Amino acid sequence: MSNTDFMLAVEDLTVSFDGFRAIDNLTLYVDRDELRVIIGPNGAGKTTLLDLICGKTRATGGSIKFANREMTGLAEYRIVRAGVGRKFQTPSIYENLSVFQNLAVSFPRGRGVFGALMFRTTPEVRQRVADVAAEIGLGDALGREAAQLSHGQKQWLEIGMLLMQEPQLLMLDEPIAGMSVREREQTAELLKRISRGRAVIVIEHDMDFVKRIADKVTVMHQGKILAEGSMEQVQNDPRVIDVYLGH
Ligand code: ADP
Ligand code: MG
Repeated sequence: MSNTDFMLAVEDLTVSFDGFRAIDNLTLYVDRDELRVIIGPNGAGKTTLLDLICGKTRATGGSIKFANREMTGLAEYRIVRAGVGRKFQTPSIYENLSVFQNLAVSFPRGRGVFGALMFRTTPEVRQRVADVAAEIGLGDALGREAAQLSHGQKQWLEIGMLLMQEPQLLMLDEPIAGMSVREREQTAELLKRISRGRAVIVIEHDMDFVKRIADKVTVMHQGKILAEGSMEQVQNDPRVIDVYLGH
């Protein structure tokens, strides 16, 4: 297939589970500096799409190019190393470690024998931890144990752990579930900030939140793309109202 300037180019992607096409010949392009939101009814295939992009699930057919490199068939850790970060719905932080430690252990390690602990506390690592902590609003909480953070702060910490690896594509599945109104507002600002210089894909149900953050919205239904465009375009699309927004 042809070269592309897109950060992410998904073409004719299909995955079947026992004959059921959870993703059905789907094509999707996401630009650098873009914050794309994917919406759609339960079971539409949104999470499965992210599973395919990050290599957790193998495609039955089609292509996934990240920065013009074919990703289908690569092991998950190789996709991470190539620059793809994925946040799952339940945060996977180390509750008994401090914010600082959680971020520091997420710094990509030295590849050789000098990995691990010593490596983590170099000035370079400390600087990166400080920068990322400021970015996620936890600059004053570096010494706190992660277990003591609010639900929203834990979500931000996990985003920070992904940012430590400097991903060029970041994917988040329902990042504001369970957050307070204030935390949602702060998360919207955070997501807009971190989409600069990279591509961000967010799966979300809360339409006020979607409206606030989305550059472009993709509507999925039955493993396919039903509609794509600005929030206003998809909101006024009768097919979208019929299968999703009208309910
Ligand atoms: P969404 O995130 O849009 O709610 P999902 O991607 O979780 O939807 O699921 C899409 C469809 O694929 C659902 O019908 C789900 O049951 C099915 N599915 C997802 N993963 C698997 C799997 N590993 N095995 C079988 N069916 C699956
Ligand atoms: Mg889902």
